[in-house]
Amino acid sequence: MKRPAIAALLIATAGFCPAPAQTKAAKAPPAVPPAPRTRAEVAAVLSHADPPPANLRPLRLLLVAGPKTHGVAQHDYPVWQRTWAPLLAKSPGVTTDTAFPFPTEAQFAAADAAIFYFKGGWETAQVEALEKFQKRGGGVVTIHWAIGVTAAPEPFAARVGLVYPAARFRHGIVDLRIDASHPITRGFPPVVRFTDEPYWPFVGDPKRVRVLASSEEQAGPDGAPALVPVFWTHEPAGGGRAFVCIFGHYMWTFEDPLFRLLLLRGIAWAAHEPISRLDALALDGVELSEP
Ligand SMILES: [Zn+2]
Repeated sequence: MKRPAIAALLIATAGFCPAPAQTKAAKAPPAVPPAPRTRAEVAAVLSHADPPPANLRPLRLLLVAGPKTHGVAQHDYPVWQRTWAPLLAKSPGVTTDTAFPFPTEAQFAAADAAIFYFKGGWETAQVEALEKFQKRGGGVVTIHWAIGVTAAPEPFAARVGLVYPAARFRHGIVDLRIDASHPITRGFPPVVRFTDEPYWPFVGDPKRVRVLASSEEQAGPDGAPALVPVFWTHEPAGGGRAFVCIFGHYMWTFEDPLFRLLLLRGIAWAAHEPISRLDALALDGVELSEP
């Protein structure tokens, strides 16, 4: 698939921060919950996955949430934490811990990967905690607004590649364009439709990230169509990994098995685990349509 230059719409100048939340998307009709995936389309993706090895090490996952923002069934960080901690703990060898609104040093020390779903601020002390965690091999996963930054963007960008100073967004249908050449996206078709929310522009150096999936938005000069990254990986020079997931506005997205696969594999990848280790959870309790 031809891939338009993402670099053109990213801001690579260290320290530059657009005005926050002033440029809103055009008024759009309320989003409609998406229909359940068909069993066949989920099976087609899963058919490309290798089963995880039998002898898996203990995996300790830390789920970090904050006070809820937004309307009903949107940005419900506490509900996610209450449902995903037991979900992840169903996987063999996985134990979970939870933090609200930010982990203690002891919690970071006891975790292999930390997953953040909250309204990000990322003050200096929080970014320093991430850096320390990554330097000893910890995996960082951010979901949706956890990529937001209200402090200086560059230190957080060094941890996760690109960061979002709450500039532009769009709620609604997204035809996600997927690069299936990475283990996280293996088996995915070139385009998958979701109903959620992309963000743009980001602050950071696009050369530091590997974009796995993107969305075409009016993000170019004068609103011209351009791709914005929606899922990416980042490997900081000092060690550790980061997986960034921009989707997660609507809580229905967390019940989508294909979204779950991307997130679960991103968690496994960030923790240096076999990529399909958590795949089985993608179908746990979700509604599918036939065939
Ligand atoms: Zn949102």
